[in-house]
Amino acid sequence: MKAFKSGKQRRVELLAARERRRQRRSRQAKADASPAVKRCPAACVPVDPARLQPYNSYDVPDFVWRGYYVDLAFRCRDCGAEGVWTAERQRWWYELAGGDVYTTACRCAPCRAKARQRKTEARQRSLPGWLDKQAARAGSSPAMSTRC
Ligand SMILES: [Zn+2]
Repeated sequence: MKAFKSGKQRRVELLAARERRRQRRSRQAKADASPAVKRCPAACVPVDPARLQPYNSYDVPDFVWRGYYVDLAFRCRDCGAEGVWTAERQRWWYELAGGDVYTTACRCAPCRAKARQRKTEARQRSLPGWLDKQAARAGSSPAMSTRC
């Protein structure tokens, strides 16, 4: 049978438990805040947050939390091939190419080249029409151009 405890004894125990929890939590927080590079595997690619594109601090990307990049497996959106987006390529994309931090690999290299080709051709097709429109707008009366 449990011994009866007074409210005062109980309160002392509760406060001690609360203090233990608080200390454990602050130790945990310190461990989390310590440079992730320490926990990072031998040949890791660390993240340099200063070089990333600005992002919403309420939605910090995984790799920023982690502090280093890891190879990511993905399936190509177009041909379905399995691919790996390497840590080094991720660093290049986010820190050097200025890629958006919420973007990720979605096409294999050949499909990416094809997509780029497709876009270039579409642009070349639409460019003459666009130029005509600009010329028409420039040639129109001032009253017409201020309307839009
Ligand atoms: Zn593909």
